[in-house]
Amino acid sequence: MITLALSKGRIFDETLPLLAAAGIEVLENPEKSRKLILPTNRPDVQVVLVRASDVPTYVEYGGADVGVCGKDTLIEHEAEWGINGLFQPLDLQIAKCRMSVAVRADFDYAHAVRQGARLSVATKYTAIAREFFATKGVHVDLIKLYGSMELAPLTGLADAIVDLVSTGNTLKANQLVEVEHIMDISSRLVVNQAALKVKQSQLRPLIQTFTQAVAARAA
Ligand code: AMP
Repeated sequence: MITLALSKGRIFDETLPLLAAAGIEVLENPEKSRKLILPTNRPDVQVVLVRASDVPTYVEYGGADVGVCGKDTLIEHEAEWGINGLFQPLDLQIAKCRMSVAVRADFDYAHAVRQGARLSVATKYTAIAREFFATKGVHVDLIKLYGSMELAPLTGLADAIVDLVSTGNTLKANQLVEVEHIMDISSRLVVNQAALKVKQSQLRPLIQTFTQAVAARAA
């Protein structure tokens, strides 16, 4: 049995065509079902639904053989726990977005940086934010949040946020503007290294099919 860890939403939706390329069809809709283990048309493949930030943990410790998670999640996981026994063979080029710094439209970020002001920055992505501002030489007080980051500058909790931006609509709807592009983000395939050895005959073809499907899409 191969167990694939996915998070609901964009990653799940955008992984489906890659699975289809490998002849794998998930038989239940996670938005409708309460099941956490979803069967597929292949009796030897199942999907487990976990929180995005739990995907590396499941794969690393063998709760799943493979998984799909964002580069953001991998960087944060590595900063907190290190990465052991996790093979990252492929950038799937899905769930693309960017990690950015955003502030209220009336906050003069450039001026604050020039002045050497100490900024308060609210984010779920503390490792990425810490590294970015340290490299830039900007002093920051990081405030860890788990969601609705956009609210922080609006309520006076923080001067800035570090968050994922896709269309920019969420920022716009909350009168926030993007002032720094930290990095591009996309989702990666992660594989348990021990499983790769033990289940080689099942996992290698899967990785190869995904690789071909990603290349075909880019062409
Ligand atoms: P948007 O309004 O399209 O710019 O999307 C921004 C909101 O969606 C923010 O709350 C982000 O945290 C979230 N978001 C955007 N892209 C992703 C992604 N690839 N993975 C997870 N969350 C995302």
